[in-house]
Amino acid sequence: MPAKRDYYEVLGVPRSASIDDIKKAYRKLAMQYHPDRNPNNKAAEEKFKEINEAYEVLSNEEKRARYDRFGHAGVGTSAASEGANPFAGRGGMEDIFSAFSDIFGSSFGDAFAEASGRRRSRQRGAPGSDIKIRLKLTLEEIANGVDKTLKIRKLKVCDACHGTGSKNGNYDACPTCNGTGEVRQVSRTMFGQFVNITTCPTCNGEGRIVRDKCNACNGEGRAQGEATIKVSIPAGVSEGNYIPLRGQGDAGLRGGPAGDLLVVIEEEEHPFFKREEDNVVYDLNISFADAVLGAKMSVPTLDGSMVIEIPPGSPSGREIRIPEKGIKHLNGYGRGDQIVRLHIHVPSQVSAADKELLKQLRQSPNLNPTAKHNGKTSPFEKVKDVFGL
Ligand SMILES: [Zn+2]
Ligand SMILES: [Zn+2]
Repeated sequence: MPAKRDYYEVLGVPRSASIDDIKKAYRKLAMQYHPDRNPNNKAAEEKFKEINEAYEVLSNEEKRARYDRFGHAGVGTSAASEGANPFAGRGGMEDIFSAFSDIFGSSFGDAFAEASGRRRSRQRGAPGSDIKIRLKLTLEEIANGVDKTLKIRKLKVCDACHGTGSKNGNYDACPTCNGTGEVRQVSRTMFGQFVNITTCPTCNGEGRIVRDKCNACNGEGRAQGEATIKVSIPAGVSEGNYIPLRGQGDAGLRGGPAGDLLVVIEEEEHPFFKREEDNVVYDLNISFADAVLGAKMSVPTLDGSMVIEIPPGSPSGREIRIPEKGIKHLNGYGRGDQIVRLHIHVPSQVSAADKELLKQLRQSPNLNPTAKHNGKTSPFEKVKDVFGL
């Protein structure tokens, strides 16, 4: 099964699209690919299903938020979880049709007539831009989740004119487009008549122009300012994840919808922990003696220090797992482990007394890696036999 397309891409809307924009885009596409209009067209039917699936998610605030954060996995519609398809096991296409008429609140024919009828101008300005900010988090913050207060600079609704852009809230109908927000150009060619419809360049599709511009914002209805924003970061996020905050981006022009604020997560490097997925790795240096004899040692964890037991005869690189001391899983259930990785410390300098002890130890056959172990002979041992070393 091919990878699912991005739902926003399917509906052809930006991530900042309002619910109205989504409905409009859906309605247009659904009519285009509706099986009634494309009989026996398998491709159109697939497309129609895809459009409906995207709409089912993006039209639902909660599902959309999960989708924004976690992609298809967040709404249980990834290729791997076929069973979670909103239409699977419920009669397929028929259910789509019942959902379809619910959304339009009317029969298909009525909806079509309405959409193809006279267009109205937006009567408000263009949407504001999305803002992306980076937020550095420590491993401790990521492990348990954290609430942050952010100060950002952004375009805010102008206080003086309440976002209208006008001193007294008065507008005139745009003279170029007569308030429709679009300009039509008809051209006749030998192939027939073509109508080219474009957004009105004078009013940018608003259909209106400000009569007396507000001095504070020069008629834009928005101005540069500062905002304090609270954001709740769930436990288990990773570098590159982002939290979308709808409508917290730049204010739109003259009452247009605000953009989104995207908080992009960055992981700060920890002084002694390394993250491996949801596990936390800690490198522990131990002495040769501790490695051979075993020992109890205190190690730091994300929840404070604790004592672990190093079993006798631990080789370098052995991993000791402390369950449930890692990072909480993003899905909200359980957490990773802490892994303590052992490294046998080799001192670069030793005292004369230590040297004597080590020389004695060197004589012990048990410390010699080429010696016989459990009756097995190492390949090197055989070589030694042959050469009489
Ligand atoms: Zn203003
Ligand atoms: Zn105009």
